[in-house]
Amino acid sequence: MERLQKLIAEAGVTSRRKAEELIVNGRVQVNGQVVKQLGSKFTTQDLIEVDGIAIERSPKVYLMFYKPRGVISSVHDEKGRKVVTDYFKDIIDTRIYPVGRLDYDTSGLLLLTNDGDLTNHLLHPHNQVNKVYIAKISGVVTSRALEQLRHGVKVNGRKTAPAKSEIMSVDRKKQTSLVKLVIHEGMNHQVKEMFKQVGFNVVKLRREQVGFLTLNGLVSGDWRFLTNDEVKALK
Ligand code: URA
Repeated sequence: MERLQKLIAEAGVTSRRKAEELIVNGRVQVNGQVVKQLGSKFTTQDLIEVDGIAIERSPKVYLMFYKPRGVISSVHDEKGRKVVTDYFKDIIDTRIYPVGRLDYDTSGLLLLTNDGDLTNHLLHPHNQVNKVYIAKISGVVTSRALEQLRHGVKVNGRKTAPAKSEIMSVDRKKQTSLVKLVIHEGMNHQVKEMFKQVGFNVVKLRREQVGFLTLNGLVSGDWRFLTNDEVKALK
């Protein structure tokens, strides 16, 4: 059983807030009866009509995308820049959205879905879904800095949870380092801020892994549907 406004939003008719307005204004019928109560719960087996037109029961869609740098993790950008859903608008005819965000200049693994419950589950820090990042750092990173990251540092006034970190390579000529960082929180610009706190700048960032899902087999701009087993294992 789901709230009526959620069923309408998930069918791609409109947003959940607008669906609430439709309900309150008496424009929604369930099984032939007008329902104005916002808390009412139904299933996709019920006949739900908006202005007399039955809503489509859109199937759940789950996919992973290798987001390139220079793409916005959103469904719309006011400045007209390319957004991640542009890649799917001619292929998938239901409204999907990204699970969390990667910065405009960050590449890597981004999940997209129309399943709000899974989104909430994956984004809740309590569920501790690990995210693996590969950061290119300006300078030769010190073991002391990594030790600090492992213990947690202050980002926007909050201490980050202990993070696993590991130096992958150092280029002494170019004065850059590649560092792997594993975190499960999702604060704004978290990886860049964490490095800033220990005295280093991130010059390039890629997300390699979310939970057990990896970018293996995908190149930048590619995507694939998740398998049923993968979806089950994420929940
Ligand atoms: N941390 C960042 O700083 N940026 C991202 O895009 C993701 C994590």
